Amino acid sequence: MAEEQKSSCSGCGSAHGQQGEGGFQAFLEQEELKDRMGKIQHKILVMSGKGGVGKSTVATNLAVALSKAGKAVGLLDVDFHGPSIPTLLKLEGKPVYQSEEGLIPVEFSSGIKVMSVGFLLRDQDEAVIWRGPMKIGFLKQLLKDVIWGDLDYLVIDFPPGTGDEPLSIAQMIPECDGAIIVTTPQNLALNDVKKSINFCRRIKVPVLGVVENMSGLVCPHCRNVIDLFKKGGGEEMAKKMDVPFLGRIPIDPSIVEASDLGEPYVSRHGGTEGAAAFSRIVQHVIDLEDKGNTLS
Ligand code: ADP
Repeated sequence: MAEEQKSSCSGCGSAHGQQGEGGFQAFLEQEELKDRMGKIQHKILVMSGKGGVGKSTVATNLAVALSKAGKAVGLLDVDFHGPSIPTLLKLEGKPVYQSEEGLIPVEFSSGIKVMSVGFLLRDQDEAVIWRGPMKIGFLKQLLKDVIWGDLDYLVIDFPPGTGDEPLSIAQMIPECDGAIIVTTPQNLALNDVKKSINFCRRIKVPVLGVVENMSGLVCPHCRNVIDLFKKGGGEEMAKKMDVPFLGRIPIDPSIVEASDLGEPYVSRHGGTEGAAAFSRIVQHVIDLEDKGNTLS
């Protein structure tokens, strides 16, 4: 408000001139972004109501499973508070090269093009103390600069929650296909799913579906799934909110092991219950595309 009053028109006292210029600038920036991301067929946001539910794990394994299904895939990590994709793919400290046209994504072994705010921050704690507008400015520049080229899918690991930051980022991504919302089965997390679904509806991002992560436990000895806590909450919530349920992934110590080793779980533990769950989720996403339903 104070800012508007300071820059108001000397004639009528309103801020129309400034807003007009700002609007035009914003329009130009959006067009630039559209151009840059124009060769990407599908952009999928991976969201969660809160941190620690496995959002980055799902985003990474989704990208790898799509790539295994023969798709050209990019993975973009815009989670300032915990850019974990470089760790999950053992790409920490990889340099990002700049060409005349822009930033060249880091290539993961299977050909996935990866970009993360984690590659560009000198210190992981640096961004946490940045104010909101600084983060948004940084991301806008990042989105405009990365040369993705032709991609079938760009999977975007989003910051958790439904605050100003995810809101601004969602609005920056042109023609996004929709969001996958990751949750755990406990009530506390489920309330956050409801918020995430309402958030997507408010900003007009289609909800592609809900994934229930950490649903049951894979016994490290017999590999059977034990229902440690409750399960099915994510599915119930998806039904209640009238959005697709994409599947459940059990707690599997192998997921932690794979994450720590920097090897995607679906590559390392192909034949497991969890890997099968990822395959079903990916098939669901590809089917949506084939049906031309939710994905544009
Ligand atoms: P978020 O992105 O939501 O903060 P992460 O994907 O970073 O969460 O996951 C948090 C931790 O939980 C990581 O150590 C990851 O390996 C582990 N994790 C995620 N999903 C599972 C699962 N299904 N089974 C076991 N560990 C998991």
